[in-house]
Amino acid sequence: MLSRCEICGKEHAEVHHIVHKCEGGMDIEINYKYLCAKHHRGKYGPHKNENVDLKYKLELQEKLENLLEKEYYTISELQIKLSINKNKAKKIVKGFKRYKEGYKTKEIIYRLMGNNNYSLYEMFNCDEYVALNLA
Ligand SMILES: [Zn+2]
Ligand SMILES: [Zn+2]
Repeated sequence: MLSRCEICGKEHAEVHHIVHKCEGGMDIEINYKYLCAKHHRGKYGPHKNENVDLKYKLELQEKLENLLEKEYYTISELQIKLSINKNKAKKIVKGFKRYKEGYKTKEIIYRLMGNNNYSLYEMFNCDEYVALNLA
C-alpha cells in the first residue's frame, strides 16, 4: 500500500502512532497517522513539537467520541466500529467491568488514549520524546 502524508500528500509516508507506543498507544488503524519524514520527525512533527503532538491526540480523542456515540459497546461492536480483530478488541476492554449492554465507552476511549484524557492544557511525558529533546 502506498501511503501519502496526511499533511502534504508526499508519497511513502511513515506510520505515526498518535498515542505513542510508549504512552500505551495501540497498534490499530485509528491510532495511525501517515506522515512524511519531515512532518513526522521534523521540527513541526509530533515528536519534536508538543503542540502538534497534542493537536493530533485531541483530534483522535474527538474522532473516537464521535465514532463511539453509544454509552456501551460489546466486543463484537467494537470490532466493527474500529475495524479490528477480536483479540485487539478484547485487549482494549481487558479488566473492565462488563455491563449488560457491554463495556463503558468512556473507559474504552480513556484506554485508547493511553489511559489519559487529553485537554488543551495537557502536558505529557514520554521517554521517546525526552530522548529527542536531548539530542
Ligand atoms: Zn508531509
Ligand atoms: Zn511517530
